[in-house]
Amino acid sequence: VHTELERHGVEVHTRSTVTRITRTDNPATGRLHVDGTGPEDTPLSWDVDLVLVVVGVRPDTDLLLQAGAKTGARGAVVVDETMATGLPHVWAAGDCVVTHHRLLGVTYLPLGTTAHKQGRVAGENAIGGSARFAGSLGTQVVKVFDLVAARTGLREHEAITAGLSPISTTATPDDHKAYYPGAHPITIRVTGDATTGRLVGAQLIGARGTETAKRVDTYAAALFAGMTVEGMSELDLSYTPPLGSPWDAVQMAAQAWVREHLLPTQQARLHTGATT
Ligand SMILES: Cc1cc2nc3c(=O)[nH]c(=O)nc-3n(C[C@H](O)[C@H](O)[C@H](O)COP(=O)(O)OP(=O)(O)OC[C@H]3O[C@@H](n4cnc5c(N)ncnc54)[C@H](O)[C@@H]3O)c2cc1C
Repeated sequence: VHTELERHGVEVHTRSTVTRITRTDNPATGRLHVDGTGPEDTPLSWDVDLVLVVVGVRPDTDLLLQAGAKTGARGAVVVDETMATGLPHVWAAGDCVVTHHRLLGVTYLPLGTTAHKQGRVAGENAIGGSARFAGSLGTQVVKVFDLVAARTGLREHEAITAGLSPISTTATPDDHKAYYPGAHPITIRVTGDATTGRLVGAQLIGARGTETAKRVDTYAAALFAGMTVEGMSELDLSYTPPLGSPWDAVQMAAQAWVREHLLPTQQARLHTGATT
C-alpha cells in the first residue's frame, strides 16, 4: 500500500506524529501549517490547503444512554443478538452498538455491511419477529489507487486472543492462467487453526481487476460455514482461463497452507480428493 501511494505521488510518513496545525491565511503556500515529528524526533513541517483527520470511529450513543441503555465494548451500546437494548420496545443497530462476532464474541467492529444486517434484524423484531443477527466476520475491503486490500476473519494476534492456535501461510497465486495475457499475482495470507484445521482468516492484496474483493468473499463464506482450510479445495468454483484457474487462487493459497502445515498423510487425502 505504501509503494502504491508513492507511485501515485503521495508522500508517506509513518512513525510520525502531528503536533500542531496552525492557520496561515496565505493562499500562496497553503492556508494551514502542519508541524510534526518523524522517527528519531526529526522535525516535519508542511504548508497545506486541507487537513483530513482520520482517527477512527466512536459510537454516538447519547440518545440511548439518556434513555438508560448500557455500554460495553469501546463505549458502544450493549445489545443481544436480537438487537434488543434491554430497554422496553427499543432495538438498536449499526455503529452505535456492540458487534456480535462469530469468532471473537462481543466486540466493536462498525461496518456498513454489519449495520444493514443488524438493521434488518432490529426492524423485524420491533414489529414482533424473532430474528437474530448471525454475527460479523469483519470482512472488509479497501481500494488504494490501483490496489485492492481485503480481509476476513482473524489475523494471528487476534486469533491468539480468541484462544485459538493460529498458523499462517502466504502464497502468491495468479488471478488467472498465466498463458492468458494480463495475469497478475494476488498475495494471499491464509490463517488456520493448528488444532482443528479450521479456517480462521485470510488477507489478500491484489491489483484492481484481479477480483480480490470477491475472492475474499469466498474465504468469508467458507469461514461462515466453519470449513477447514483443507476443505476449501473441494469447493466447486468457476473457471475459465481469462478469469481464473482450475484451482482458483483462493484454493491454491489454501493448498499452500495445507502443504506447509498438514502431515503428509493428511496431504495425500487432499490430493486424492477425499471428503473432509
Ligand atoms: C469515510 C467512511 C467510509 C466507509 N466505508 C465503508 C465501506 O467501504 N464498507 C463498509 O462496510 N462500511 C464503511 N463505512 C462504515 C459505514 O459507513 C457505517 O458502518 C454505517 O454507515 C453505519 O450505519 P449507521 O446506520 O449505524 O450509522 P450512520 O450511517 O452514521 O447513520 C446514522 C444517522 O443517524 C443520524 N442521527 C444521529 N443522531 C441523531 C439524532 N439524535 N436524531 C436523529 N438522527 C440522528 C445521523 O445524522 C445519521 O444520518 C465507512 C464509514 C466512513 C465514515
